[in-house]
Amino acid sequence: MTSSFSNLSLAEPLARAVAEMGYETMTPIQAQAIPVVLSGQDVMGAAQTGTGKTAAFSLPLLQRMLKHENSSTSPARHPVRALVLLPTRELADQVAQQIKLYAKYTNLRSTVVFGGIDMKPQTLELKKGVEVLVATPGRLLDHIEAKNAVLNQVEYVVLDEADRMLDIGFLPDLQRILSYLPKQRTTLLFSATFSPEIKRLAGSYLQSPVTIEVARPNETASTVEQHFYSVPEDDKRRALKQIVRQRGITQAFVFVNSKLGCARLARSLERDGLKTTALHGDKSQDERLKSLAAFKAGEVDLLVATDVAARGLDIKDVPAVFNFDIPFNAEDYVHRIGRTGRAGASGLAVSFASGGNDVRLVADIEKLIKKKIELEPVEFEDDRPRGRINDGRRRWREEGEAGDARDVLDALDRPRERSADSRPTRSVRPHRAPAAPRDPFFEKPYEAPEREAAPAWEATAKATPARGVSSNIKTKRKVPALFKAS
Ligand code: AMP
Repeated sequence: MTSSFSNLSLAEPLARAVAEMGYETMTPIQAQAIPVVLSGQDVMGAAQTGTGKTAAFSLPLLQRMLKHENSSTSPARHPVRALVLLPTRELADQVAQQIKLYAKYTNLRSTVVFGGIDMKPQTLELKKGVEVLVATPGRLLDHIEAKNAVLNQVEYVVLDEADRMLDIGFLPDLQRILSYLPKQRTTLLFSATFSPEIKRLAGSYLQSPVTIEVARPNETASTVEQHFYSVPEDDKRRALKQIVRQRGITQAFVFVNSKLGCARLARSLERDGLKTTALHGDKSQDERLKSLAAFKAGEVDLLVATDVAARGLDIKDVPAVFNFDIPFNAEDYVHRIGRTGRAGASGLAVSFASGGNDVRLVADIEKLIKKKIELEPVEFEDDRPRGRINDGRRRWREEGEAGDARDVLDALDRPRERSADSRPTRSVRPHRAPAAPRDPFFEKPYEAPEREAAPAWEATAKATPARGVSSNIKTKRKVPALFKAS
């Protein structure tokens, strides 16, 4: 379902901004969500980045904020009225930029706060007064603690990429933030999947939400050619380079499961002569934005990224996506390869499985996407480069293979692992196995593992002792502790 923005009766300044952006018809999530939000109802939306969901929540948000619009210079006249929470700095920055564009012909003020950079400039912006505040949860709590942000006049809250926020362990932070908001408000929650945890979150904080789903969240685009190769860990880099060369791939995303692995792989690919950049949580905000800009400008060929760092980035139509590591969560496979083959363009998704745990992870993906996966062998063109690569690998090992304190930080960028015994224990069919008869296993819809007891995050949130000025504010975030609990 698509329809024209002119059917919406958006206020003139918003309609003008939308027209200037070149939008003509609404995307399905916009056509469904905007009228519901304008009517004041809560929304639980399953929509991924790239579907136009930012405008789907921002335009009605701004339209409803217009009644507060004023040109006064007094900060008291510009309290925070709308709050948009996102899991990562890049996402927060992107959404804030879009909101600024949509609001450019209004007097509504907006700003963004996220961690990893100096708090002072953010504090100055907050002190001037803003109607729309885009934030990552941790940094927002820092500003609340410092009394830079007051949320008691918020009328509208958006929890974007809520599943990812829970994966990172932000639930206790979200609960604290939500406890500051007036009960009378509109709440929107967007998530790629409606896991039991997400449903619990919605049950606690949304009131009779309208559920909107624009596409089956676990579907992979039919335009994406998917290959799974069985490759020993040590040969993955060689396989990647060979496929890039053979297929004439100009640009690709390369996904890895950890920050440390991300930095190492990017360094070694760079040494191999490929223009590579890394995107992970240990990089400064400035470095991350520069990496992104360089990739968008076509100055680098390969962007090596962790899931958390790459989630939601507004990069479309990448010719290929590599899963250098099989993701721990099958849903992440769908997110990763959703970067390619967009809008009908053809794309390539290549995944490397190196045995062991990967077999189980591939079986999870198979079940989620409801497609049989063949593990193919890689036929290397030429064995000569092996020595050179092995030499490089030795150097690489010498540089610091041993686990160090960074492994703890690493864990923060890693999607939450499900317990091993909650996984289906089905093995992937070997290459060239005869076609299996119809298997009822694939006819069952994918279900995230149910937990009998309340999720760990709920217990943690209740058990978190109240400290500091208010029972709802914690004085210091202990992120590793949160991670362990999630
Ligand atoms: P999002 O899913 O919100 O990250 O949006 C993905 C991209 O689609 C962004 O670059 C938006 O500017 C663009 N976009 C959003 N809505 C529309 C629309 N109705 N028509 C064309 N482009 C759009």
